[in-house]
Amino acid sequence: MTGNSVIVVGAGHIGIACAHYLHRDGHDVTVIDRASVGGACSHANCGFLVPSHVLPLTEPGAIRTGLKSLFQPNAAFRVKPQLRPALYRWMFEFGRRCTHHQMLKAGAVLNEILTASMLEYQQLFSDASMQCEWRDNGMLFVFRTDEALRKFGRTDTMLASEFGLAARHIDGAELPDFEPALLEDLAGAYYYEDDGHLRPDRLNSTWSQRLTDDGVTFIENCSVNTATTKGDRIAGLQTSQGLLQADRYVFATGAWSAEFEDALGCRIPVEPGKGYSVTMTQPEIMPSHPMLVPEKHIGISPFDSSYRIASMMEFSGFDDSIPRTRIEQLKDSARPYLKTPEGPVEEDTWYGWRPMTWDSLPIIGRVPRLANALLATGHNMLGLSLAPMTGKAIADLVAERPSDLPLDALSPARFS
Ligand SMILES: Cc1cc2nc3c(=O)[nH]c(=O)nc-3n(C[C@H](O)[C@H](O)[C@H](O)COP(=O)(O)OP(=O)(O)OC[C@H]3O[C@@H](n4cnc5c(N)ncnc54)[C@H](O)[C@@H]3O)c2cc1C
Repeated sequence: MTGNSVIVVGAGHIGIACAHYLHRDGHDVTVIDRASVGGACSHANCGFLVPSHVLPLTEPGAIRTGLKSLFQPNAAFRVKPQLRPALYRWMFEFGRRCTHHQMLKAGAVLNEILTASMLEYQQLFSDASMQCEWRDNGMLFVFRTDEALRKFGRTDTMLASEFGLAARHIDGAELPDFEPALLEDLAGAYYYEDDGHLRPDRLNSTWSQRLTDDGVTFIENCSVNTATTKGDRIAGLQTSQGLLQADRYVFATGAWSAEFEDALGCRIPVEPGKGYSVTMTQPEIMPSHPMLVPEKHIGISPFDSSYRIASMMEFSGFDDSIPRTRIEQLKDSARPYLKTPEGPVEEDTWYGWRPMTWDSLPIIGRVPRLANALLATGHNMLGLSLAPMTGKAIADLVAERPSDLPLDALSPARFS
């Protein structure tokens, strides 16, 4: 390798994090995006930074849940039948991995990236200019029924024994004192105090602004149509703003990554997994903690200036509709838990396409047949939480330094 210029394609959480660590190593970094910085899946997600979320989607009960949902129009998980063989291959490969053994294996890899990413974020947020409403006051997993609470208790025991993740159990009687926004008659909660949350759009704007001030170039409204290759290298990117060239190229293109399979000559099995959120002004009794409600599959995010409910996982291709029924469903799901589940004014309704892989692990590493191309994609439901170590691993690979991460498990070559 000769020069030190790098083009990062995609300006979501992952592209921004890659730019950060590459710039720190002294590279001349340009980030390009076909829309705006942080405007896709990284815009209005829950904003949870969650070392507690080590369990992958590929868990033993996932197939049963998926099949049941085919007969439940309001299910949070939904597959829209489509004539796309790639989707059925994806589902088949996903289903094959829904075993206890695979769940623990993927969980161990995620655990390493999540824990190390949280440490990187803490360092980043020690800089007072990083204004993104960061709060490190943990995460509540809240339950209405004793049965669901007991069931999660078994998961919590497993998380502690397998991954060393300990939560505090809060019983129903104690809960309203701990979180006054919750109703009085809930069964209880588990509190993961090492989790945190922030406002994702603020993180994108403040982080990209800081990088811009430090000399990173961001080019918006620039779509990469294809990559032209010469021998074992990318020679340039054909974009809507003409030919762009650099010494190395990082593809952080989220849910759209499979579009580059032919150009990069490798399999990139990423499917869009659509989720929704509704952001409101603050309700009368504002939660002080971020919360997950596993019985309803929703996340509740209290921000300094607003309040968000988010959920759903739809495999419906790149369908960009926001059905009103889904937004109402988000609000209805919060009602059995919160004293004032809605804010007076709806500020935003949103969808995002999560970049889903069939083994629940991100794809981070060198493109097998191209010496100057890397992939940083497939972060599933955890792109915000996994971003820093992804960026750090990409910088390590470019520098040919050993990485702290188990890169074999994450490599694009695992699909060849
Ligand atoms: C409802 C919901 C809640 C979530 N909550 C959380 C959470 O609390 N915590 C968490 O960790 N994760 C959460 N996630 C997941 C997280 O949002 C994603 O994993 C993450 O945003 C993925 O980031 P990314 O940078 O890979 O993708 P994106 O943010 O989608 O960025 C990819 C970028 O690539 C650009 N691009 C694609 N193709 C091209 C091209 N050809 N040319 C130029 N540019 C291109 C796109 O325009 C886009 O901006 C949530 C997701 C959803 C939907």
